[in-house]
Amino acid sequence: MGQTAKVTRKNRTITVDFHNEATYDQLLDDTKAFVEFVLAFLLALGFQLLHKASCSEGGGLTRHSHYARVRLGGLTIWRIQCTTCKAVFTVLPHFVLRYRTMRPDVARDALIATHGGLSLAWSATICPISPMALYRLICALGQHSLVTVLVKCRLPLPAYILADEKHSRCLTERVYLPTIVSGRVIWHLGYSDSKSAAAFTASYGQCQQTALEHESSYQVKGALTDGFDSTVSSMRTLFPGARLGFCLRHALNKLPDKLVGIPASVRRGLRSTFHALLHRCRQRKSLRVVALGQCLRHFANRIATTVGEEHGERVRHWFEAKKAGWYAVLEDPKMPAMSTVLDQAHNAIDRKLFAMKGFHHPGGSQAAFLTGLAHLYNLIPYQRRALNAGTCGVEVEGGRVPTSDWMLSLQILTSGGYQCAPAPPHH
Ligand SMILES: [Zn+2]
Repeated sequence: MGQTAKVTRKNRTITVDFHNEATYDQLLDDTKAFVEFVLAFLLALGFQLLHKASCSEGGGLTRHSHYARVRLGGLTIWRIQCTTCKAVFTVLPHFVLRYRTMRPDVARDALIATHGGLSLAWSATICPISPMALYRLICALGQHSLVTVLVKCRLPLPAYILADEKHSRCLTERVYLPTIVSGRVIWHLGYSDSKSAAAFTASYGQCQQTALEHESSYQVKGALTDGFDSTVSSMRTLFPGARLGFCLRHALNKLPDKLVGIPASVRRGLRSTFHALLHRCRQRKSLRVVALGQCLRHFANRIATTVGEEHGERVRHWFEAKKAGWYAVLEDPKMPAMSTVLDQAHNAIDRKLFAMKGFHHPGGSQAAFLTGLAHLYNLIPYQRRALNAGTCGVEVEGGRVPTSDWMLSLQILTSGGYQCAPAPPHH
């Protein structure tokens, strides 16, 4: 691959909101005022600077740091070096994007058009940029992992997750996008050309790895899947202690497939009986699993007597294979029961990929591109007629975004130089 010799320099850019360009220009000539402004901004966000792991400076800036002004593409910016660990921070004013000539307000329009489902080419048509520039911008955002950005929004790592793969295409090849969702937020959106358990384990494992780097004691308590073998076995491998549930709505939709050759009206009737049965069991406060076991037995017997023993037997067999996953959903009231929010996330991503007719380039940066799209999904507020109008997925889940302007928040959150201040110790 030829990448072993490449030294990756850590991106320690910090985007700072200077309110307007005039304020920035004034501060440039006054080192003390400039540093104080940056410190106040850090304090307001509750962020710290990402020094090297060994550094004793504890995430701040000190008087001793080296400050230098450099000219970059006609703009003067400050670089700050920690004298202890030698980490260099580049202070990027809010009105520029790192390594890009495109201004944030142009990027904002193009990104929202893409998020809304326009192809890169159409988004570029209504904005003064090229489709490739937009593609590269989304990939650059995707260099920052979802976990890292979500943790900066003060979201706790998810104890209960939904996991499933979206099927997509890269030219004529089938590809799979392993996805982890918790509520309205995407925590992982991977890319795999195989649907093997090993491939899914590798993809979901990246998310787990980043989470563990952040919190070494992180554990998943429960995972809901639709019961697909590779997904289930990858969850079992990565999260051995987790409860593994199967989506109840998926079960409902599968029932008619088990009743082939029976009139549609009868199948519909049985499906709604099954629906009522699952619903009743979920409503119960105690003995939910016992209740479900009994209900499933009665239901299978009823199918046997009303539409025939062979159907009853087939359904019984299916229940036998799946019931452990349904029990897992009922055993723990915090377990998600249905994968609706995950389907919604997949539909949103699918709209964009469909507009692009899949991934055009087998050698492209699919993983980074998908992660970039997932950041937009998490951070762009819902439209005004939506259920959670005006707030973004992160906020709906109880997280905090740095500013009320999603584009500025996105710039700040994908700045490599920030990290969260450690949480105050619990008493
Ligand atoms: Zn340092």
